[in-house]
Formats: sequence, structure tokens, C-alpha cells
Amino acid sequence: MLYDAIVVGARCAGSPTAMLLSRKGYRVLLVERASFPSDVVSTLIIKYPGVQLLKQWGLLGAVMATNCPPVRQWLDHKGDFLLSAPLPAVDHVVTVAPRRIVLDRILAAAAVQSGADLLENCVVEEILSRDGRVTGIRGRTRGGGSVTAHGRIVIGADGKHSLLARTVKPETYHCHPVRACYYYAFWSGIPDMGLVSYWRNQHFVLAIPTNDRLTCLVIARPAAEFDSLRKNVEAAYWRCLEISPLLHEYARQGRREGRFIGTVDLPNVYRKPFGPGWALAGDAGHHEDPLMGHGIMNAFHDAALLAEAIDAGFSGRMDLDVSLADYEIQRNQWSLPAYRRNVAAALLEGWDSEQELRLRSALRDNPHEAGRYFGVRVYAVPFEQFFSAENIARIAGNGLTF
Ligand SMILES: Cc1cc2nc3c(=O)[nH]c(=O)nc-3n(C[C@H](O)[C@H](O)[C@H](O)COP(=O)(O)OP(=O)(O)OC[C@H]3O[C@@H](n4cnc5c(N)ncnc54)[C@H](O)[C@@H]3O)c2cc1C
Repeated sequence: MLYDAIVVGARCAGSPTAMLLSRKGYRVLLVERASFPSDVVSTLIIKYPGVQLLKQWGLLGAVMATNCPPVRQWLDHKGDFLLSAPLPAVDHVVTVAPRRIVLDRILAAAAVQSGADLLENCVVEEILSRDGRVTGIRGRTRGGGSVTAHGRIVIGADGKHSLLARTVKPETYHCHPVRACYYYAFWSGIPDMGLVSYWRNQHFVLAIPTNDRLTCLVIARPAAEFDSLRKNVEAAYWRCLEISPLLHEYARQGRREGRFIGTVDLPNVYRKPFGPGWALAGDAGHHEDPLMGHGIMNAFHDAALLAEAIDAGFSGRMDLDVSLADYEIQRNQWSLPAYRRNVAAALLEGWDSEQELRLRSALRDNPHEAGRYFGVRVYAVPFEQFFSAENIARIAGNGLTF
């Protein structure tokens, strides 16, 4: 069977890519090892640009209808005081944090509704190529059957350990060592306070309200601590929670719904995302520490850019190599500034710098600007706008630079 595009991996990058290409009239095969509903190791925050894409694709209503509360405010403690403000009201929904078991099913269903063929329970075992050009995939279904399919392009949306990337071995760049490790669990009985974050002395705690009144309670520590943490996860988790008396007490009164989930498998890397007959999207093309919650919106953004680039090439509007090179440029321009800030922040130090604390104390009695400060964190307010020298001087006086 010859497809226009074969997409390997049907989550945040793969399903929207398949959906968008199908909506443009292309024949798309979407191949996924799991079957939906299916969960994945990830916390849940979709930042504003990701929410905007969901809305643009007509999927935000379905996400909100899953009993998932929009995030309305942020409470943040950086070794000083609890600074809180409503997120800026730039839209009806600014940020939302659906369970992945819910979100990923909606995305895959949207791809199918748009006309893509979804093959679940199928592991792609081999990337086929001819004369240096990727031409298709060979996979194995759970029942043991073999599947072979050919496409004009094969898209690896198959996560950070992408088989396609391992096969084509693209150039990597902007690499940094692993920074932090994470454990999280879902809790009932914790009130929805919006996002709540505490930072102290290389400890980080974050509460995220999600579906069905559950809260995802996340802790982060430097990557080097992972081995000692995993020896007694529960004790280490509670110890980290102690930096937040508020969340510690709520968790004590609440109930853990499910096991602790943790990982340190968190590389910081960009891969060149295209070559003859292939392209990469989402974590397969660029993976970063999850501290600032960029992965889902980046995956959506890649899907939007890549579908446009492929359409430009396939329709003859542009040479495909040129449009894919443009995809790489646009992906990097869009994600790199935030990636650099994220990789620096994921060292989990410097959050209580004098500069930061001075700014925060100036924001304390300025709810409008405090809201915009949190708006920067969810990408509803541009970083350059809020942190411009003039704006910071206006809020906190002279002498602060970020
Ligand atoms: C602890 C943690 C917390 C996070 N928190 C956030 C957050 O709050 N906000 C945020 O935006 N991001 C967060 N992220 C990042 C986010 O989870 C990822 O960036 C996002 O899932 C990337 O989506 P993807 O579709 O590229 O890849 P994945 O979600 O990894 O999906 C890849 C899919 O490909 C399939 N696949 C792989 N190989 C094959 C194969 N050979 N054959 C068939 N199928 C295959 C897999 O089964 C999988 O379903 C977090 C990540 C972690 C680890």
C-alpha cells in the first residue's frame, strides 16, 4: 500500500500531524505501538500556544468536556512568600492540564476522523529505505502479523528514543547534559488552587489540577539524586514536599490514587528533523527537560509546521527540501529561546537570586503585572515584552536585568 505519509507514533506530535495532512487530502497511515486509551510518563500542562492550536484544530471543546478544569491562577513560592495572581485573561482558556490518557485518545480520534488510517498495537521494527532514501516501514502487530507500508515520506513522531532517528542518525545540536529528575503521583482531596509551585535549595514541587478533581503532584531534584531517590521513592517524595507546608498538608489529608511515576531519562537535544524521505516531529526531533512544560505545545507546533511544509512540497508550491529546511528553521527559532531558559532553570538553582526576589517583591502589590509575570510562564505574554529593561524598571525600579 502506498501512502503519502506514514506517521510513526500517535500522541502529541504524530496524531495532529496525521490529522492535518489528512485534512489537506493526503493518504496517511498512523502507526502506534499502544492502543488507546493509553497513558504515558508525562505531566500535563498545555501552555497557551498549545491551547491555541487545540482551539484552531477544533479540539479544545472535546478536551474541556472531559471534566478538566482550566488553569486560572498561579501560586508560586521561591523562598520568599507565596506570590499569586490570576493568569492574564487573553482567552477563555489560557492553560489546561488534561490527563494524557484522555488527551492522547482525543488526538488519535481526531486523526482518524480526518481520514487517517490508524494502526494500533503495531510496533515499527524497521525503517525501509532504498538508494539512501527512506521509503516505508515494516512493523509487527500484537498478534504477530507482519505489516509493510510505503510512503512518500515517513514521519518519526515516535518519541525521544525514535527508531527513525536511530536509523537515519541525524546531526544533533544544542545538546546539554540531563539536568533534573522527576517523580509524580495523582491525588484526590486536594483543592483546585490553579498551578502551585515551590522552589527551594534544588528542590521543586508543583501541583497541577487535572481531570475529575485529581491533582498531579510533582517533585523534581537534580538528576544526580535519582539513584538515591528511587531506593525509597515514597520517603524522598514526602521529604521534597516538606518545602511546601501547604501542599504537604493537603497531600497528608488527601489520598494518593495510583503509584509514583518517575524518570531521569530526560536528554536535552535537538536533531536535524528532515532528510531524504523522512522527517521528525515532537520529542523525536527535539527533547528537553520537562521543568517548564514545553513538550506538548512544542509537539503541536511541530505538527502544524511540518504539515504545512509537507503540503508545500507535495503540492509543488515549493521544493520539498526547501520547505523542510524552512520547517527546521522555524521550529528552532520558535523553541530555542525558551529551551535555553528551561535548560538553565532545570539546574534547579538561582531561583532565589536577589534580582528575582526584588522583582517579586515589587509584584506583590501589583496584581496586574503579577498576572503578566505568570503569563510569561505560560507563553500568553511574550518574555521580551515583560522582561524588557523599560518594563522591569517601571515595575521594580532601575538596576534589574534578566
Ligand atoms: C516527567 C515528565 C513530565 C512532563 N511534563 C510535561 C508538561 O507538564 N507539559 C508538557 O508540555 N510536556 C511535558 N512533558 C513532555 C511531554 O510528555 C512530551 O514532550 C510529549 O509527550 C511529546 O509527544 P510526542 O508525541 O513527541 O512523543 P510521545 O508522547 O513520546 O509519543 C511517542 C509515541 O510513539 C510511539 N512509538 C515509539 N516507537 C514506536 C515504534 N517503533 N512503533 C510504533 N509506535 C512507536 C510510542 O508508543 C508513543 O505513543 C513531560 C515529560 C516527562 C517525562
